[in-house]
Amino acid sequence: MPKMFKKKENKEDDKIIRARRGKFVSRLRGMKDVLPEEYRYWNLVIKKATELAKSYGFKRLDTPVLESLELYERSSGRSSDVVTKEMFSFVDKNDDRIALRPEATPGVVRAYIEHGMFNLPQPVKLFWLGPVFRHDKPQAGRFRQFSQFDLENIGETSPVADAELIAVTYYFFRELQIDVVIQINSIGCSVCRKDYLVKLENFYKERGRRAKLCHDCKKRLVKNPLRLLDCKEKACVEMAAEAPQIVDSLCDDCRNHFIKVLEYLDELDIPYNLNPLLVRGLDYYNRTVFEVWPSAAEAAVEVAPGGAEKLAGKAAGERAEQPRQNALGGGGRYDGLVEYMGGRPTAACGMAIGLERVIMKIKEKNIPLKDDEKGDIFLAQLGDQARRKIMKLFEVLRKAGFNVREAFTKDSLKSQLEAADKMGVKYSLILGQKEVMDGTILIRDMESGIQEIIDYKKIVAELEKRLGNPAK
Ligand code: AMP
Repeated sequence: MPKMFKKKENKEDDKIIRARRGKFVSRLRGMKDVLPEEYRYWNLVIKKATELAKSYGFKRLDTPVLESLELYERSSGRSSDVVTKEMFSFVDKNDDRIALRPEATPGVVRAYIEHGMFNLPQPVKLFWLGPVFRHDKPQAGRFRQFSQFDLENIGETSPVADAELIAVTYYFFRELQIDVVIQINSIGCSVCRKDYLVKLENFYKERGRRAKLCHDCKKRLVKNPLRLLDCKEKACVEMAAEAPQIVDSLCDDCRNHFIKVLEYLDELDIPYNLNPLLVRGLDYYNRTVFEVWPSAAEAAVEVAPGGAEKLAGKAAGERAEQPRQNALGGGGRYDGLVEYMGGRPTAACGMAIGLERVIMKIKEKNIPLKDDEKGDIFLAQLGDQARRKIMKLFEVLRKAGFNVREAFTKDSLKSQLEAADKMGVKYSLILGQKEVMDGTILIRDMESGIQEIIDYKKIVAELEKRLGNPAK
């Protein structure tokens, strides 16, 4: 094409694109569409989550996306990042203060109280899967709408519950072939934490450390000093590495609880790292807190099976590094939350895994996926009469349990067989005008290309002979 025309055409295209853009409303920042080709990954992780939750006796529940803003202010904590910076909240037409859920636990606890689940045999083990919303700064692995797989064990004080939760979390990743290490710490109870916070505040007040803290940490020192330990700013990270460790201040009960959790993990061969800097960002946690980090981030960090012994002898000596990659999941114990939210005193623990990040890992590692799109049989037709008959046959075979595929809208046999090839089916059944008249149908072996004529009435028996009985 002469250059002159090309230029004019391009300009024309630009004009059309600009005009279209003017009309087009794109998706919001930090929000993601899940297209059909990505759904393969979603099916896989949802299936794994559902299977594991079921095996370990967690029953599924759903809660609304919208809740009263107060629910999160009271549970997650007024000074938490989730509430202060990240919540999507608004005043609705009735002047009610509403929030899009930024995490699952508060809604699940509300439902537990509201539906009198304390009257059921305890503990109540719940499984939750759905979208959450945080007005975070969008970047790789950080969205404003993302999905979590969440398990909650409400009504159990025993460290077995903490260990079971961590084990299920670990198995989820292991079975998806993602190498992870559990980061674990205990942040004690309201009694022993008080003593620790005094030590921590004194530490930051010594030797001009306070002046070196970042802007946010100066505020945290007053409002929530524990959060000084997991700040990502370089100067704060360096100071946190020198700070007193909470495990040295645990009361006997909290210390024994933690040792028991670690002993179970040792027994189950679950790799974990005692991480004294791990505190989690929400107000409701006590005792065990944990996160799941991809193991690559562990290169410089000591992995510590046998940590229970170390902790029993002397507080864990290792200083874990701050996560260089985004965590894949996290959780902990929240023994005070149910009562704080208006229920009876009820011990509990829970965890949440971010599914977008899990899927990113699966894609990064090229983990082979079973192709759900693949069928066993393709139904091809030639002519209107054959098409009508084959649409009926499709339903018969689908109901009999066969994995059937079709391209009813295509007319040419060639393009239908090409489609069958792409779908990876073993056999195509071909029905033309002649076969309709004869009461027969052709069966084509897609690998060898060999075609045979069979009696139309004997299709199901013939397919069962070749593919096995799908009902069995
Ligand atoms: P959290 O309760 O903040 O520890 O979140 C639990 C898990 O959800 C994290 O470990 C991540 O896998 C995931 N997650 C948290 N925030 C985001 C986000 N903004 N975008 C995507 N996934 C997230």
